[in-house]
Amino acid sequence: MIDYHLHVIAHGDRPMTVENILKYCEVARARGVSQMGITEHDRYLEEIDLAAFQEARELSHDVELRLGIEIDFVPGAEERMDNDATALPYDYIIGSVHRVDNEEVDRATDQRIYDKYETYDLYAAYYANVRKATLSGRFEILGHPDLIKIFRHFPDRDITPILEETADAVAESGVVVDVNAAGLRKPIGEVYPARDFLQMFHKRGVPIVLSSDAHAPDQVAMGYDTSLALVHEVGYREVATFRNRERGTLPI
Ligand SMILES: [Zn+2]
Ligand SMILES: [Zn+2]
Repeated sequence: MIDYHLHVIAHGDRPMTVENILKYCEVARARGVSQMGITEHDRYLEEIDLAAFQEARELSHDVELRLGIEIDFVPGAEERMDNDATALPYDYIIGSVHRVDNEEVDRATDQRIYDKYETYDLYAAYYANVRKATLSGRFEILGHPDLIKIFRHFPDRDITPILEETADAVAESGVVVDVNAAGLRKPIGEVYPARDFLQMFHKRGVPIVLSSDAHAPDQVAMGYDTSLALVHEVGYREVATFRNRERGTLPI
């Protein structure tokens, strides 16, 4: 089993020390995770301690460590994204869309963006950014593909054609989808992506990784009962893995 999207520094919650990384590894081992990828938000790039990561990787026997990064995809910020994507020897790069018109859609304390736009238009703009991210050629993995559902603001029109178009773009790009259990801890209470959307990816042969998006050690592999049942029901029998930007597979 893998957990390929999680945060040790998180939102500046703790430093990336060997001890802190090993705390995550301990939980991973206890929950049957054999490969764990640390993917800090790129705005914390300066706080990623490569030496601590490498030392923890040596010390961690049962859990293989990977280094990735979660890049906040913003059209127009190509220079920042390129800079962050080449700063360290990553095993893989996650591209995540958190914003529409440079404004975050997943901020619990400020949901005004959902009043500012008609919900259908907001969803359309969100998925247009997702397609741009996948087709940009910058990323191996598309993070939490339907984050926009987080607070249960749903459009009153059917967005199936938008999702189909987005799944087409993902399949065309060769990018892997992050099946991310963090949604279970949010108001939406379900995995990203939703079952219908995941089925569209499966139908097109799009590979997946599994993740918890943990922001604390006890969240490693949290919700995996639900996400594993989901991916199995949809038909997935393996996950993608990455090492030095090269893709492999692992049965699930
Ligand atoms: Zn994210
Ligand atoms: Zn994340």
